[in-house]
Amino acid sequence: MARLIFITGGVVSSLGKGLASAALGALLQARGYRVRLRKLDPYLNVDPGTMSPFQHGEVYVTDDGAETDLDLGHYERFTGVPSSKSDNITSGRIYQQVIEKERRGEYLGRTVQVIPHVTDMIKEFVMSGADDVDFLLCEIGGTVGDIEGLPFFEAIRQLGNELGRDRTCFIHLTLVPYIETAGELKTKPTQHSVKELRGIGIQPDVLLCRSHHPIPDEERRKIALFCNVSPACVIPGIDLSTIYEAPIRYHEQGLDTQVLKVFGITDAPSPDLSRWNWVVDRVKNPEGEVKIAVVGKYMQVKDSYKSLSEALTHGGLANNVRVDMEWIDSEIFERDDAAAFLENVDGILVPGGFGERGTQGKIEAVRFARERGVPFFGICYGLHMAVIEAARDLAGLEGAGTTEIGRPRHSVIGLMTEWTKDNRTETRAEGGDLGGTMRLGAYPAILSPGSRVAEVYGSTEISERHRHRYEVNVGYVRQLGEHGFAVSGWSPDRRLPEIMEIPDHPWFIGVQFHPELKSRPFDPHPLFASFVAAAVRQSRLV
Ligand code: GLN
Repeated sequence: MARLIFITGGVVSSLGKGLASAALGALLQARGYRVRLRKLDPYLNVDPGTMSPFQHGEVYVTDDGAETDLDLGHYERFTGVPSSKSDNITSGRIYQQVIEKERRGEYLGRTVQVIPHVTDMIKEFVMSGADDVDFLLCEIGGTVGDIEGLPFFEAIRQLGNELGRDRTCFIHLTLVPYIETAGELKTKPTQHSVKELRGIGIQPDVLLCRSHHPIPDEERRKIALFCNVSPACVIPGIDLSTIYEAPIRYHEQGLDTQVLKVFGITDAPSPDLSRWNWVVDRVKNPEGEVKIAVVGKYMQVKDSYKSLSEALTHGGLANNVRVDMEWIDSEIFERDDAAAFLENVDGILVPGGFGERGTQGKIEAVRFARERGVPFFGICYGLHMAVIEAARDLAGLEGAGTTEIGRPRHSVIGLMTEWTKDNRTETRAEGGDLGGTMRLGAYPAILSPGSRVAEVYGSTEISERHRHRYEVNVGYVRQLGEHGFAVSGWSPDRRLPEIMEIPDHPWFIGVQFHPELKSRPFDPHPLFASFVAAAVRQSRLV
């Protein structure tokens, strides 16, 4: 049976709890253990699918089609273990399940309460399907003391009691701020945070103390004394220039060693960190640099494109270059000439997106890339923009557009309501719940032999993750192909175009899926590796 590690946070949010969890997962894995990571989110949304990227950052999609928190992306990138529906839950879903159970009469007339009914549901979720790993790491979203979080903290406290001390470990992540005017690091917020945690019955075993400055031993001892842990269990987490250094630095500070000690394990094999050393060395010592313009909508919030920026970084690792990303709000091209902004870039990427705002600007960016022979990568909505541009400017279909925004004269992108998967017909419920109408999760595609993508993947059968409602209208595919923009990847039933490319262009590929979700630092996604390679060639031209 798995041992459980709970990771909670205090003081403020955004301290990198997800990354710390992912790094610990990677460290235990590097010691030969099987790990699984889960995230418990206290907010009341049933899932993050309907939350604005401005609010919540990226929605990470799993193979089995769950719309989850972006921390699951960190978990996958650090451990390579694919996440699933059962790895992320919110208060909203927990309450939904409790209420449904109550409606079915399964509580047999009893008063339904937070304790034990909500907490039982949380415990059931935490423990489900955890038998096939050595360590299950559960991160609790938010910070200790948040009202929504209380049932989760109560549930993990109970689990600590029920499973016993040798099967559970509590890690608490806090901030140790540096006060400029005093010239000192302050431990008080950590003391208060731990006090809050102990107030609800949880004594942390290990403290992770995030700080901009190194934490001297004296401060470590002080934190240990006030928080009732040993000084060795006060682990400093200093800001790093690359997130991929986290496993190495946390190991140096003894994180994995102390966690194993909590479980009474002192004879674990030392971790093989060679892949992390390789990644960090590559990140820090690139041989060159390329500039990629990412032309999208949610540019103020970098977290909205978290997996994308990581996948581009991985593409750089594959080519031994640093990828300098220029995040450009596409609306700017609706006022100013795109050329002024794109003249000096080596590649242009139009990522996923929704709605009307900024679409004309994205189409301008596609046109620039196509006409100037600049490597172009269109992802999901980026493919849609490329299809609209080609329809209008190459095929002369005036008024071509997507039914996502209005009623275009030529619906080159439209809503498909039916398709087949695994020989079954799947239907998209039009007008159903907002969260439930998308094509979500992994779908296979068949690539045309001899196409660029078949060469890039080194295969003609692939599987990639989707998250969208609209599709390229097959009714226009022949016409677009005749003008040089051809489908090179299809759904197995040949009803849905999955990839399109311009063979007569240095690198122009649009994909209906989200390849960025499956890229890993030690296993860069082939499309990103190839796109960055094309950008390297482009940089030598200019
Ligand atoms: N808005 C488009 C759709 O729903 C594309 C979605 C996306 O880019 N993820 O089909």
